Amino acid sequence: MLERVPLLEKELADYTEVVGEEILAEITRLAEPLRGSRVLHINATPYGGGVAELLATHVPLLRAVGMDAEWCVMHGSDEFFAITKQVHNALQGAEVEWNPAMQRTYLERNLENALALEDGWDFVIVHDPQPAAILSFVHDAALTHSPAHWIWRCHIDLTVANPSVWEFFRPFVEQHHASVWTMPEFVPPSLKMDHVVHAPPCIDPLSVKNLDLPMPFCQEITKQYGINPNRPIMCQVSRYDPWKDPVGVIEAYRMVHDEIPEAQLVLAGSMATDDPEGFRVWEETEEARGGDRDIHLLSNLHQVGNVQINAFQRMADVTVQKSLREGFGLTVSEALWKSRPVVGGRAGGIKLQIRDGEDGFLVDSIEECAQRTIELLADGERADAMGIHGREHVRQNFLSTRELRDWLSLFNDLAESTHTATRS
Ligand code: UDP
Repeated sequence: MLERVPLLEKELADYTEVVGEEILAEITRLAEPLRGSRVLHINATPYGGGVAELLATHVPLLRAVGMDAEWCVMHGSDEFFAITKQVHNALQGAEVEWNPAMQRTYLERNLENALALEDGWDFVIVHDPQPAAILSFVHDAALTHSPAHWIWRCHIDLTVANPSVWEFFRPFVEQHHASVWTMPEFVPPSLKMDHVVHAPPCIDPLSVKNLDLPMPFCQEITKQYGINPNRPIMCQVSRYDPWKDPVGVIEAYRMVHDEIPEAQLVLAGSMATDDPEGFRVWEETEEARGGDRDIHLLSNLHQVGNVQINAFQRMADVTVQKSLREGFGLTVSEALWKSRPVVGGRAGGIKLQIRDGEDGFLVDSIEECAQRTIELLADGERADAMGIHGREHVRQNFLSTRELRDWLSLFNDLAESTHTATRS
């Protein structure tokens, strides 16, 4: 048995006020033929990072529409997760070592997980590279008797993937019946699969992280972290990861501070179990901070949870997501949903979420990040107007109900293609 992640309960009807009845009616129609289907999501971590954030809402919503859905986390080890973080970096374009010993450790862990997998699923969704080879072992060892549909969900931008690492993973990915990608540009041309779907991730407007909070409450929370709610706040919420460029954010903040000396910076980042780089990047960021009391470096180790993130995003005059590479960047939609403008690195899914000059700005350098932040801090009305545009953009495109609809359509397509194949 893989480790099951405990789930919250969600009701589809609770989303009526936010998205309207029409969308919910369509979801219910799409879910009808799938009632009782057994769905399993497998990923590498139960918390920290976007995939865990997504599944915490998506799996309860699948249950809410009548599917028998579970979320399991694969078994790993420090060595395994150090290797898969290297893989993650390589797939985002870094030069990393990828030797036979690493490959063997990777495959051994996937075999162990395949052996621990329960049988009897209708749909199995495997997230990212960590569990990507499980299906090959399930096939090889004839571990399954049920005709499950296996789907690989890639959350990473593979446009400049390291070729040798991608070529290692490609055959494992291609064994799946379908793959789902955040953007068409992320799909490598070498991938040979019949069923390739594009569906960006989404945020849950009803999660504790995104629910409306009264401003006095948000002010109180920021005060408790030593942040002055009456002075301008620039904020980035992100794992401590080199691709999120926290040190670059500090450099941009210093330029902002030269122009607007009252400005403060909040960097909040959780540590994920599958991300061994976090502590090293935290130390680098701490060093770049150089004891500056207006730079607030926070993590889940300071009790920064969903409520605090919600409050920081609401209190930010400008939110930043200065990623150098990004799969999607849920934090962008989270901030826009709170009607805050976002200055984001021109990378991956950030480009889907920020319409440059409308919901915030896309930037290519530290200087540009600083410049755009200064502009927004200097013109609060413009910043607020952009935030309001952004909230509407998120409502139309990046809420969990949209994602649920996409997945139900895919399940129906896969079930239909099996019926057609059986009939012919
Ligand atoms: N997050 C959090 N606490 C933190 C830092 C991040 O809860 O201290 C959340 C953040 O709000 C978002 C997710 O982790 O929901 C990060 O997802 P994103 O897609 O932005 O990046 P990823 O970590 O998947 O690369």
